[in-house]
Amino acid sequence: MKKDWFYETAYPETTIGLKIKEKLYTGKSKFQKIEFMDTDSFGRMLVLDGVVQATVRDEFIYHEMIAHVPLCAHPDPRQVLIIGGGDGGVVREVIKHPNIAKVTLVEIDSKVIELCKKYLPETAQALDDPKVEVRCEDGAKFIADKTAVYDVVIVDSSDPVGPSTVLFAEEFYRCLSNSLKKDGMLIRQSGSSFLLQEPLKQVYQTIHKVFQYTTLYTAAIPTYIGGFFTFVYASQSIAPTRFDSSLIAERYARMSGKTGYYNPAMHQASFALPNYLEELMPR
Ligand code: SAM
Repeated sequence: MKKDWFYETAYPETTIGLKIKEKLYTGKSKFQKIEFMDTDSFGRMLVLDGVVQATVRDEFIYHEMIAHVPLCAHPDPRQVLIIGGGDGGVVREVIKHPNIAKVTLVEIDSKVIELCKKYLPETAQALDDPKVEVRCEDGAKFIADKTAVYDVVIVDSSDPVGPSTVLFAEEFYRCLSNSLKKDGMLIRQSGSSFLLQEPLKQVYQTIHKVFQYTTLYTAAIPTYIGGFFTFVYASQSIAPTRFDSSLIAERYARMSGKTGYYNPAMHQASFALPNYLEELMPR
């Protein structure tokens, strides 16, 4: 292993190597190992327990696609809950929508928030927006007593290891369904379509047991290796086939700030799936 390189340890037999200009921080919180480094090709990067979470250069893709797909398709999104997301990237994208009344972020590890404000201000400064309430607690515990509160819930957790494990249980999704209003939407990151195929299938099938409408959509994210990166869309009342393209275009036009990946055409295209993903989803 070359000394000034970082090699991700998310997968036993596959890795991404990134040449490092400078190691900025290494430490452990109550929950996980936290690292920040400055890479030659992707700029500053957050790594949790050896897994790439966000880089300055390509984080916009993931954060745009997890936020704007539900917020441009939902009839009237005002209350948004984000579980995980301590880097603030999803919050930054959500508050680009003028009709949002409140964003609640439930991040278990306050150290991630504190350090992202120092090393990733590009994403973390959004956490100080007046519309945002930050709660440092377990998302699974937070959601357990919420009923019909949210229009959109976004689960931006790390992969199913350590503190995130509870965010992949069927009970968690039943609580999420209960916390959503009648036309509510759930989005969760569901990992690499090639390197996490078994966990992806389990995540999808668990959510499919709970929600009336469930499907995958994808994005191409350079530092999330292993082919298409996937997201799960779920709702009890709005099928993705019923998305209103004129509403999506109108919402996109009303957003403040610009996007580097998301647009109405990419919104629709991201739900077109290759056969190997279609076959993962029981119909
Ligand atoms: N975009 C990244 C991805 O797709 O893997 C996720 C980024 S975000 C930094 C992941 C966050 O989830 C971490 O900060 C972690 O502390 C948080 N997290 C893990 N388990 C959690 C839980 N049970 N409740 C709330 N937050 C949790």
